[in-house]
Amino acid sequence: MPVAPSPPLAAPAMLRALPQVQKLLESAEAAALLAEFPRALVTEAVRGALDALRRAVLDGAACFENFPADSFFDSVRSALEPLRHDRMRRVINGTGIVIHTNLGRAPLAEPAVTAIADVAAGYTNLEFDLESGARGSRYAAVTGLLCRLTGAEAALVVNNNAAAVLLALSVVAGGGEALVSRSELVEIGGSFRVPDVIRQGGARLVEVGTTNKTRTSDYEAAITPETRVILKVHQSNYRIVGFTSAPDLAELAELGRRRGLVVMEDLGSGTLLDLRDIGLPHEPTVGESIASGIDLVMFSADKLLGGPQAGIIVGRRDLIVQLKKHPLLRAVRIDKLSLAALEATLKLYLDPARVVAAVPVLAMLAAPLPLLEERAGRLAELLAGIDGLEVAGAEGKSYSGGGSLPETALPTRLVTLRAAGVGTAELARRLRLHRPAVVGRIAADRFVLDVRTLADADLPVIATAIREAIREAVRGVPAP
Ligand SMILES: *Cc1c(COP(=O)(O)O)cnc(C)c1O
Repeated sequence: MPVAPSPPLAAPAMLRALPQVQKLLESAEAAALLAEFPRALVTEAVRGALDALRRAVLDGAACFENFPADSFFDSVRSALEPLRHDRMRRVINGTGIVIHTNLGRAPLAEPAVTAIADVAAGYTNLEFDLESGARGSRYAAVTGLLCRLTGAEAALVVNNNAAAVLLALSVVAGGGEALVSRSELVEIGGSFRVPDVIRQGGARLVEVGTTNKTRTSDYEAAITPETRVILKVHQSNYRIVGFTSAPDLAELAELGRRRGLVVMEDLGSGTLLDLRDIGLPHEPTVGESIASGIDLVMFSADKLLGGPQAGIIVGRRDLIVQLKKHPLLRAVRIDKLSLAALEATLKLYLDPARVVAAVPVLAMLAAPLPLLEERAGRLAELLAGIDGLEVAGAEGKSYSGGGSLPETALPTRLVTLRAAGVGTAELARRLRLHRPAVVGRIAADRFVLDVRTLADADLPVIATAIREAIREAVRGVPAP
């Protein structure tokens, strides 16, 4: 029945016209939402929209004669909409930073992904010895591999490298002094600061040498009856260049043995591969540290290694045995999914001829310019047909990230974009909010994608994302 136009209600009448929450939940509009979303959340959204409408009435911002059911349920729906998707989503990394901590560090090798899927949905022999039917070791899947790949006599894995360093310090240095070079008192980001970790490990920091030069004799001169450990720390993102010197690892290991101290090294990224083999500058390998006689070496599994998040500790068996007994181990233990992925990743390293192609982090770091050029060409071609999009190729630099090779800029190829009528910041924002998200850089008012960190399968997805982003921006559709 058509309703004759009548003057809007006064505020008290409008407030009286607002239905009860229960009535609204019984409506047909609510039924559609309840089929999709949990009742508690629909109720909450209805209450929220009702409160907002009540406030609008009191502020004089809302004016109606009949309860505006359509617009009311539109706002309820848009409040619920974000729940439809997980907050975490896939990201296409066009930054050219291979190990990007904000983007989840290492993309996993295919066998590692399969290994996770295999153990995730059901039960697994995580701590169960299938041969004897008795309780087994959580670490058995990876210790043999780690010893073989590093030359160490024993190994242990924990949740991440920060936990590895904390655990090792707690066991080895607790209550005593830890000697650290002044050049290595670094913060590596994410609030991991060497002096704080030492304090947390229950040890007292004794600074040795100077910012630019530290010699073995400096360590020796600082030894007191309280000294328990010499800690070497990879400087990661930080470099002191020029007039510098650091002691030879073998010399330091020898000093430790002579004076009864544990010598341990936080290698940070910790590569198992000589990076010179893939045309990069040398980074100390875990094997080199072990061969120098370092007692314990700690490193991340999700930096240059290219595996899941984990912290690896390799070294002297008697020390690893002590680490395994410390109560902190339980608090920082690795989970079954990471362990499965780590085993699969480490196995790839058994074949040095194939590991670079198989581990995405290594493949991206090793990608030769002609390959990048060809990939940039294909991306540019896919983008060429998009209306109002200006596409150009350019030379650029990519970085390893993750605290490794901070001074090494890898020559790369970029694809740079500008869309007519859409601001570059706006284009970048819409691409970030796309599913999957596309993350790049902005330089000289152009959106820039570095093809080094793109997979071939990403290219058509990027083209679709850009086409949609431009179309919606031009039409003024708000970004999701
Ligand atoms: C990255 C890094 C860490 C922390 O490793 P996580 O695996 O992120 O916990 C510790 N020390 C150094 C030197 C690092 O580079």
